[in-house]
Amino acid sequence: MTKIAILTSGGDAPGMNAAIRAIVHSAQHNQYDCIGFFHGYNGLLNDEWQTLTHRDVANVLQFGGTILKSARCRAMCEPQGPKQAVNTLRKHQIDALIVIGGDGSFRGLEAIKAHWEGQVIGLPGTIDNDLAGTDNTIGFATAVTTATHAIDKIRDTANAFERVFIVEVMGRHSGHIAFHVGLATGAEAILSFENCDSADTKQQLDRLINQIQVQQQYNHDSFVIVLAENLWPGGPQALKAQLAEQADIESAVCVLGHIQRGGSPAPEDRLLATELGLEAVNAVTDNRTGIMIGKQGTALHDVPLSHAINAAKPVDARWIKAQHDVLTEYLVKHRK
Ligand code: ATP
Repeated sequence: MTKIAILTSGGDAPGMNAAIRAIVHSAQHNQYDCIGFFHGYNGLLNDEWQTLTHRDVANVLQFGGTILKSARCRAMCEPQGPKQAVNTLRKHQIDALIVIGGDGSFRGLEAIKAHWEGQVIGLPGTIDNDLAGTDNTIGFATAVTTATHAIDKIRDTANAFERVFIVEVMGRHSGHIAFHVGLATGAEAILSFENCDSADTKQQLDRLINQIQVQQQYNHDSFVIVLAENLWPGGPQALKAQLAEQADIESAVCVLGHIQRGGSPAPEDRLLATELGLEAVNAVTDNRTGIMIGKQGTALHDVPLSHAINAAKPVDARWIKAQHDVLTEYLVKHRK
């Protein structure tokens, strides 16, 4: 009988449980056995697992986190790590390994593939949306929704005190969350990798100060800056200090942090996870391997793992243009 193993790895993302559930349901429908390894690749290295049936995945799709737990596993990056993982897969007579995670997790999957005859299939599970070959990753929609609601609340208090707020959002090294959230909340400024050179922040700082001063002159209530994590040297506190030193602008800082990773998955993530999970089992049946299942438009398709990992996944140019044009127009109008 065909035997599938599942694990979740790297940063957890809301919707991972929905994906596990879909895989288990489809596996049982096809009369495949299914087991889950715990704590990312650590579960494979330490042989930590459990059988998964319908009962184990009942009432999980509405919860964030992952019932299989997630973790980083440094040993997988050592030469012995993937070989040890393969020993465990052989011991359990696994035919296909499905990993739900981000680009790092897919590198681990490729390393296993180099030593193993079984099928390896990835599902894009990361809030960062930084995997090529799929419009959205599992967890992205929820993270954007959570951060949007949080900034709406910040806006209330920022308006009341007529404050400048710097709100740091997640995204690792990409600005998908920053741009979506910035536009969805009407942030006055979005500072992200796509529109800001972190090696030369002086020009960006001058521009930002100019924008804030123009706005304050016209007595607008508040000014929200959405800042992508890992962008500004010294982080949001350094930006706050620079605004104060250079232009006597007071600001408050809010780092949204891990609340963006948790919470009940948005319906979009539940549906995406379900669709991708079902397709992963179809891929097992069809003997497809070395792929991530992606979705572009309404079509599901196989993306070579190397492409998903290495190809660029730029923020949609429409969003960057919208932000740029709106701000430029605003400045030009108010400078007169
Ligand atoms: P996210 O970006 O959402 O945090 P991710 O999957 O990219 O998710 P990483 O921490 O980069 O998260 O990687 C997860 C795990 O994948 C690592 O802890 C490690 O076990 C494995 N991994 C990462 N890179 C490699 C590699 N080059 N070779 C083997 N395994 C790797």
